[in-house]
Amino acid sequence: MSRIAAVRVYPIVVPLRRAHRTAHETRADASMALVEVRTDDGIAGYGQVSSTPLKDVCEWVTRFAEVVTGMDALAYVAAWDKLFGLTSPRVDGGGLPRGARPQIMAAIGGIDMALWDIQGKAAGAPVFRLLGAENKPVYTYATGGYYVEGEKLTACADELAGFVANGFTSVKLKTGAASMKDEVARIRATREAIGPGVSLMLDMNAAYDLPACIEFARAVEPYDIVWLEEPLHWYLQPADFARLAQATPIPLAHGEREITRFTARDFIASGAIRYIQFDATRYAGFTEALRVAHIADEHGVMISPHHAPELHCHLVAAFPRTGFAVESHGAPEDSDPVSTGLFAERAQVRDSHVHMNEKPGFGIEVDWDFVKKHGA
Ligand SMILES: [Mg+2]
Repeated sequence: MSRIAAVRVYPIVVPLRRAHRTAHETRADASMALVEVRTDDGIAGYGQVSSTPLKDVCEWVTRFAEVVTGMDALAYVAAWDKLFGLTSPRVDGGGLPRGARPQIMAAIGGIDMALWDIQGKAAGAPVFRLLGAENKPVYTYATGGYYVEGEKLTACADELAGFVANGFTSVKLKTGAASMKDEVARIRATREAIGPGVSLMLDMNAAYDLPACIEFARAVEPYDIVWLEEPLHWYLQPADFARLAQATPIPLAHGEREITRFTARDFIASGAIRYIQFDATRYAGFTEALRVAHIADEHGVMISPHHAPELHCHLVAAFPRTGFAVESHGAPEDSDPVSTGLFAERAQVRDSHVHMNEKPGFGIEVDWDFVKKHGA
C-alpha cells in the first residue's frame, strides 16, 4: 500500500503588470499555494490553492502534513474526512479556530487535489478517466473587463471583442464597480463590439442588494445576458436569490465563495440558480467539488466551476448532461500570471474549448524554475 510520506507547500506570488480591481477588491498581484504530496513509493502529486491570506493557507497545509502523513495515499475520502473532522468540536477540545475556517478549507483542498493527482498517477490514468469521462473538448469562456485606473469606461468592449477574435464564443465581463448608468453603458458597448452571436455573462462580484440588483437586471435584459454571477451582497442567502430569480428572466450563477458542499447544496436546492460555480482550488478541493457536481446534476443545475480550467475540465467532462463550461482568462498574462507561468504542461485552451491530454493525474507538469523565481 502506498502511504503519504511528505506534504510540502510552495507559496508563489507574481505582481500584475497593471493593478486592477473588481467590484469587490483591488489586486496588485496574483498568488497561489502549490501543494506537493509525496508517497513512500515515489509518486508526487500536486494541488493548487488560490485563496488568501497566502501565508495562513500555507501554515495550515504545513500543520495538516502531520495529520495525514502515514495515511493511505489513495484514500482521499479518508484524508478529507479526517481533516474536515478537525473543524468541529471534539471531546478533547481540539476543534480548530472558527475564524480560520476559509483558510482551513483551502488547505484541505490543496492536499485533496494532490491526492487526486496521485490517484491518477498510481493508476496510470488521467483524473477524467477515473471518473468515467471521455476525452472530449470541454467548453470554456474568457473572462475580462477588469477595471484599470485611467482606462476609459468602455475599454472593456474592445478587450472582449479581442477575446472573440482569438476564438472564444463566450465572454464574461466584470461589472458592478461603477454607477449603474455607467455599467449599462459598458455592457451596451460590449454587446455591440462582440456582436449578437457571442454569449455574454456578467460577473458582478456581489455588488448589489436585492432592490438595486432587480433594477440592474431589468436595465441589462436587452443585451442578451447568459447569467448574472454573484449578483447579491455576500450576506444574502438562497431565499434572496430566489426573490431575484423571480424578478428577472436572466439566469443566476453563484458558488465560487462557498466553502463546503452544504451551503452550495442550499443554493442549488433553492431553485434560484441555474449555474453552480464551486471552485476546488479556493476551498475544499476536488472531492468536495465532485460532491457539489453530483448535487447539481441531480437538480438539473449546470456545472460551471470558477477558475483553473486545467483542473476543473476533469470535473466538467464527467457530467455530459449538466457540465456546462470552465472559466478561462481572456488575457491570462495580465490577470492570471501564476497559472500562465507555472505549468510546463497542462490541458490547452483553444477555440473556446479546453483540450485535455492523456497524462496521468491532472495532466500537469510544474515548471520548477518558475516556482524558484516567484517563490514567496
Ligand atoms: Mg466570479
